[in-house]
Amino acid sequence: MAEQESLEFGKADFVLMDTVSMPEFMANLRLRFEKGRIYTFIGEVVVSVNPYKSLNIYGRDTIEQYKGRELYERPPHLFAIADAAYKAMKRRSKDTCIVISGESGAGKTEASKYIMQYIAAITNPSQRAEVERVKNMLLKSNCVLEAFGNAKTNRNDNSSRFGKYMDINFDFKGDPIGGHINNYLLEKSRVIVQQPGERSFHSFYQLLQGGSEQMLRSLHLQKSLSSYSYIHVGAQLKSSINDAAEFKVVADAMKVIGFKPEEIQTVYKILAVILHLGNLKFVVDGDIPLIENGKVVSIVAELLSTKTDMVEKALLYRTVATGRDIIDKQHTEQEASYGRDAFAKAIYERLFCWIVSRINDIIEVKNYDTTVHGKNTVIGVLDIYGFEIFDNNSFEQFCINYCNEKLQQLFIQLVLKQEQEEYQREGIPWKHIDYFNNQIIVDLVEQQHKGIIAILDDACMNVGKVTDGMFLEALNSKLGKHGHFSSRKTCASDKILEFDRDFRIRHYAGDVIYSVIGFIDKNKDTLFQDFKRLMYNRYDWYYLCLELFDIYCMCLHMIIIFIENFHEPYYVRCIKPNDKKSPQIFDDERCRHQVEYLGLLENVRVRRAGFAFRQTYEKFLHRYKMISEFTWPNHDLPSDKEAVKKLIEQCGFQDDVAYGKTKIFIRTPRTLFTLEELRAQML
Ligand code: ADP
Ligand code: MG
Repeated sequence: MAEQESLEFGKADFVLMDTVSMPEFMANLRLRFEKGRIYTFIGEVVVSVNPYKSLNIYGRDTIEQYKGRELYERPPHLFAIADAAYKAMKRRSKDTCIVISGESGAGKTEASKYIMQYIAAITNPSQRAEVERVKNMLLKSNCVLEAFGNAKTNRNDNSSRFGKYMDINFDFKGDPIGGHINNYLLEKSRVIVQQPGERSFHSFYQLLQGGSEQMLRSLHLQKSLSSYSYIHVGAQLKSSINDAAEFKVVADAMKVIGFKPEEIQTVYKILAVILHLGNLKFVVDGDIPLIENGKVVSIVAELLSTKTDMVEKALLYRTVATGRDIIDKQHTEQEASYGRDAFAKAIYERLFCWIVSRINDIIEVKNYDTTVHGKNTVIGVLDIYGFEIFDNNSFEQFCINYCNEKLQQLFIQLVLKQEQEEYQREGIPWKHIDYFNNQIIVDLVEQQHKGIIAILDDACMNVGKVTDGMFLEALNSKLGKHGHFSSRKTCASDKILEFDRDFRIRHYAGDVIYSVIGFIDKNKDTLFQDFKRLMYNRYDWYYLCLELFDIYCMCLHMIIIFIENFHEPYYVRCIKPNDKKSPQIFDDERCRHQVEYLGLLENVRVRRAGFAFRQTYEKFLHRYKMISEFTWPNHDLPSDKEAVKKLIEQCGFQDDVAYGKTKIFIRTPRTLFTLEELRAQML
């Protein structure tokens, strides 16, 4: 039957491929996609291809099929991995996590939501009110996060423009009792500028389209999207999104989650301040910069509860210390525009972080006494951007790709290390596995004193003195000989690289050319001190701005620490089949790239080199003893190990297994599938 299924729908596990090769991998992936089988295993990893149409595979009946089953007993599915993570956490009281990666539009966020829904569905059988409340909050918080952190892009109508790591805490019964969200790398540049065909964050359109007339009037806003220069690029775009309806959904969700009415008001005020800031124009009169539309300044001042002249001053001057004197230095027109934009981006980012922290206040575990209730365990879900390669790659792509490089390294290390340790414990000889170790690239980026990050941090210490070009020079002189780094200076024949601008990193997944322009700025994240002071000077929502500016936004280093602390990660690898959001097209070229970037073939290789499956002799017998007359209903052999040996030999699988001290190791999943079938025939 497995063979039959395999002919028609392709192989359910890439480990079963006849040869580990790209063509065979792609053929299997395509066949399964075309047959509506969007999920495929690589051992315990789920590979998912975005179907771009709703499939009837997430309902109650499907959930029931996966509940409490072993991974290999059912067809590949997100639920299989969610259940495996949940079981591992519950049985062993150990923290686990699920890492979901893939490029934008590949289906990561949808996958994370299905996983959450599955966990919500299978827990709390006794319907405890407090647990139901927590589950409701966890699910509800999504729509608020998406309103402020997602945007329509050319790749995805509802693209998450931030990375998210969410913990769900469970009590000793295995029921969710709380959670925590960490956000990082919010793409705040989107607040002030978008590519053609794209929009800013949903929140702005929702407010303008959904806010009542009275509310808009109090914020001095008008409905017309094209009146606001920060968002007018995408103003006319048709999208499937109903902003007005979403506004109400999000407002309700904020209420349900427990945002106070005045807090919700403040959120809208901040959005309004940003929209107004975008319309501020500067003119130069002689050398004196002036604000062209003074009316807007007074609106901003009113919304910020501060004085007009203070806003004006923060926009046009910078306070500088020269020796012992403090003087006000005039901005040029360019500096003034830059400062305005930096301010707008910064308050949006702080707003987003504040929203996340409010959600955290509400969902975090309360009143859990470990001495009474036992250990509280965690399942983490990481929804992270995959490898990004655009026509122009800047600091953002550098961070994201470094994250992925690190994830890949940890993935391979963990799998290999766990395997090796287990083999040692069980007295099974370890066979060397040939794989590409990307340590050298990770070092290129993060090595102390001479890695790219260290060189960049150095450059940022000398604010104002070091330019992006000088930073590139420093890279050239320190890393010019590195095998995975090149620039026009170190590789003169390479005409694609622009002098004084580009460098290339040979990542495990392929080559990426980065432009250094903006690296220093983005790393030190300039926000003119005067704007900070302006924010602190407001009176009535002083408490909020204090919070706004004190909140700790997750930076790159933090996420790396999180990843390193993952104990037992499960992986979902998402693939986007085409760039047209079409359910029909499987674009070979695009998919092959992603398979490369995700390192999936390497993944299959590592899995195949080892044993796909292992279980204690006792458990194994419990499940399969009906297959052999030597073991059914009970065996009279000296040990369970002997009994398992007898059963395996009778089936003819002796060449595919190894016998450890307490466990049997099975090399290929095919053997396991066959055992499952034999078992089913007996029942
Ligand atoms: P990502 O988070 O990777 O950028 P999303 O999860 O937002 O991508 O998915 C993009 C879009 O693709 C979704 O809005 C939805 O239309 C579609 N999609 C993704 N996964 C599925 C799925 N499992 N079933 C149906 N449609 C999906
Ligand atoms: Mg997403």
